[in-house]
Amino acid sequence: MLDQTPKEIIARSGICINPLKTCQPVGALYAALGVHRCMPHSHGSQGCVSYHRTLLTRHFKEPAVASSSSFTEGASVFGGGANLKQSVKNIFDVYDPDIIAVHTTCLSETIGDDLNSFILELDIPDGKRVVHCNTPSYVGSHVTGYGQMVAGFIKYLAAKEEKSDSIGVFPGFVNPGDIRELKKLFKLMGVPAMILPDPSDTLDGPMTGSYQMFPEGGTSLAEIRAFGGVKRVLALGLLASKEPALVIKSRCGVETDLLPQPMGIANTDAFLKRLMDLTGHTVPKELEYERGRLIDLLLDANQYYYQKKVAIFGDPDTVAGLLSIALELGLFPSYVVTGTPGDAFVSQCQEILQEYDVPPAKVKAGSDFFELHQWIKNEPVDLLIGTSYGKQIAKAEDIPMVRAGFPILDRYGHAHHPLIGYEGTRRLAELVAGALMDRYDRDCPDEDLDVVM
Ligand code: SF4
Repeated sequence: MLDQTPKEIIARSGICINPLKTCQPVGALYAALGVHRCMPHSHGSQGCVSYHRTLLTRHFKEPAVASSSSFTEGASVFGGGANLKQSVKNIFDVYDPDIIAVHTTCLSETIGDDLNSFILELDIPDGKRVVHCNTPSYVGSHVTGYGQMVAGFIKYLAAKEEKSDSIGVFPGFVNPGDIRELKKLFKLMGVPAMILPDPSDTLDGPMTGSYQMFPEGGTSLAEIRAFGGVKRVLALGLLASKEPALVIKSRCGVETDLLPQPMGIANTDAFLKRLMDLTGHTVPKELEYERGRLIDLLLDANQYYYQKKVAIFGDPDTVAGLLSIALELGLFPSYVVTGTPGDAFVSQCQEILQEYDVPPAKVKAGSDFFELHQWIKNEPVDLLIGTSYGKQIAKAEDIPMVRAGFPILDRYGHAHHPLIGYEGTRRLAELVAGALMDRYDRDCPDEDLDVVM
C-alpha cells in the first residue's frame, strides 16, 4: 500500500515507481476504435493486446475489440511478416471490417519489423484498407500513441483532391462525452465539422440487447479522405494532436491550429473565438447563457474553492486543461504532474500559472505517483484531481479526491461526461465543490453540521 511511501525524498533516475502513464499502443488502439468499422490490430504478442484491451474496457465499461499478430518465439526471432499476413487474411475473412489499423509493440519494434513493406506485400480485398503506425512503448505514452495512430490514418487515407467545406477536428485524447460536447458546440455555432477519431457511439453506445462487433458511429473512411481538403483543421491538445497536425499540413497542405483543450472558461472562449474568426458566425444566446450559468456557479461556491491547495495529475493535455479550470475556480495548485515525458508540458503549465497571482507550484513531466506522494507527505494538499490510481494517495493521506481524465477504472459513467466546454467546466466545478463540502461536513463539529451552505 502506498502509505509505506517514505517521506524522505532521495534523488533517483532510471526507475519509475507506480507510473503515471501507460504504453503507446493503448492510445493507438483507442484512436482506432473511433473509426467506423475498424479493427485495431496489435502487431506483437497476445499478452500486450490483452492488457491494452483490458485497460480500455475497464475505463469505458464497453468491450474494446482488437486482434493480434500473436507472436511466439519463431516470430520474435525471424520477424512477424508472416504472422501479419495470416492475421490480415483471417480478420477480413472472419470479421469483415472496412479497415484494419495496425500498431506495433515493444517486441515488433525491437526486432525491427518494417510495417511499411509488410503492408505493401499484403493481399488486401477490394475496397478494404490496412493502415499502420509505430508505437514502441519505450518512448512517449498512450497519449503519443494516440497521436501516432491518428497521424497514420491521415498518412494513408487523407486525399488532397477531396474538397470539403467542413472544419476538420483532431479532438485529442478525450472521452466520448467530450466528443458529444464538441459536436454540440459546432452545431450551436452552425459550423459543419468532421472529427477524427470519433468514439462517441462506438465506446458509449446504448444497450440494445444484441452484440455488434462494429457499432454504429466512428469516423468513416470517406470522412478521413475528405480531411485532406477541409477548410482548416483544429488540432486540440498540444501533445496528442501535434503529430496529426504536422502530417496533414505536410501531406495535404491543410492549415492547422494547434490549440489547448477547450477546458475552462478562457480556453472555451478562445476556441469559440477561433471558430468565429474562421467562419464569421456568432456565438448563439444558448452558449452565452451556458457560460453565464457557469460563472454564477463559480461565484456562489467561491468560498469553498478559494485558496484550497490542489494536486493535479494525469495526461499532459488534460492536466493543462484541469489546471486552467482549477485556477478559474480559485484553487491554489501545489503540484501539477504528468507521467508522459516532455518539456512542452512544463512550459505550457508555467505559462498558465503566470497569469494568476498564486503561490509557486511544482510542475513536472515524466513524474510518477511515488514522487507525487512524497511531495504530498512533505507538504499536504486539500484536494486531489486526477485518475483512479490517485485513490491510494487519497486513502493513505486522507485527502478528498475528484476523478478526472484517463483512466477512471473505479467509477461508472465518467466517460459519458465532458470535461471540455462550459458544460465540462461546470461539471468539474460541481464535483470539486461537492468533494470539499463533503469533507467539511465529515470533519466539522456537530453543531456546525448545517443543511444550508
Ligand atoms: S511489452 Fe510494450 S507494448 Fe507490450 S504491454 Fe508492455 S509496454 Fe506495452
